[in-house]
Amino acid sequence: MTEALRSGWVSSIGAFVDRFEREFAAFCGVDHAVAVSNGTDALFITLRSLGVGPGDEVIVPAMTFAAVAAVVVHCGAEPVFVDIEADYWCLDVRAVERALSPRSKAIVAVHSYGHPADMGGLTELAGRHGVALVEDCAEAHGASCRGKTVGSIGRAGCFSFYGNKIITTGEGGMITTSDAELAARARFLKDHAMDPTRRYVHTEAGFNCRLTNLQAALGCAQMERLDELQANRRRVLEIYREELHGLDRIRLNPRAAWADPVVWMVCVVGDDRFAEQRDRVAALLRDRGIDSRPFFVPLPELPPYRHARVHGTASDGAPVARRISRAGLNLPSGHGLTEADARYAAAGFRAAIEACS
Ligand SMILES: *Cc1c(COP(=O)(O)O)cnc(C)c1O
Repeated sequence: MTEALRSGWVSSIGAFVDRFEREFAAFCGVDHAVAVSNGTDALFITLRSLGVGPGDEVIVPAMTFAAVAAVVVHCGAEPVFVDIEADYWCLDVRAVERALSPRSKAIVAVHSYGHPADMGGLTELAGRHGVALVEDCAEAHGASCRGKTVGSIGRAGCFSFYGNKIITTGEGGMITTSDAELAARARFLKDHAMDPTRRYVHTEAGFNCRLTNLQAALGCAQMERLDELQANRRRVLEIYREELHGLDRIRLNPRAAWADPVVWMVCVVGDDRFAEQRDRVAALLRDRGIDSRPFFVPLPELPPYRHARVHGTASDGAPVARRISRAGLNLPSGHGLTEADARYAAAGFRAAIEACS
């Protein structure tokens, strides 16, 4: 960052932006990476670049971070919510099939809490129905699905480098793709839609969704530490697994046979009794100085989306998302956590759950 500052290139043009894009493209195994200002803009610019607009529908998981649905609205399109799989909390492929309509333009497959979505099933469906498959990799840098790295499987991958993500640039994001036309379109839209050959000739109403060279310098440094940062999070999860062994009312981060997940947050999902006690458990943790987070609220329960269509495997609605959301809790899992911190948090969790029983 000092080098970037001294170079004078503090905004969105500079050697670190180019280097971060190159390194990130290589990391994902794609031809192009386009740096953007955050993960939300990565999704927004990708959907706009794919031509998503009024009259279109975009399929979004019923339980994920709300920005995924908000960007669809900001494109003038309609989010259609689809229930998640009970085992690993990503889009339920059979429910996606029920939700597809002639107006479907794209599917946003979120790799939730570090676990990849079933990209095999989704790729087949997207191909058959002629819709674009976009990966939201904001929580899953480096995860893979049947040997393929996330961000390289769909038409495009969207990453976030927010402070709580696996690598961070403070705020930041990246679009990955091997589709040269899509990459060029994203680069154009994120930079005021200026004609690449004629300065100040803006051929459309564009956006400013650029990453700065200062942030990109931080991104390059984070890329050097990616393995170490991943290993720390894996180690923290292992400690929780050891400490919480035998607590059969809860399970920790899942892993499907075909998936190689990464650890973003340590996740606990409990039974129905745990769902009732979860907020009390969180309060008891707080008393011991241990922070926690509930799982994301199902998006169809939020005011902007109450009237949206929601599809499950067998009927309308998203019963699995509702159940997992109520029974899910994230325990401390950030970078600064020491082994002693993780053991303290795990012991506190065990004590809290026992106090509630
Ligand atoms: C964090 C996150 C985003 C948004 O990223 P920002 O960089 O905060 O805009 C989008 N989707 C998912 C699934 C996320 O977890």
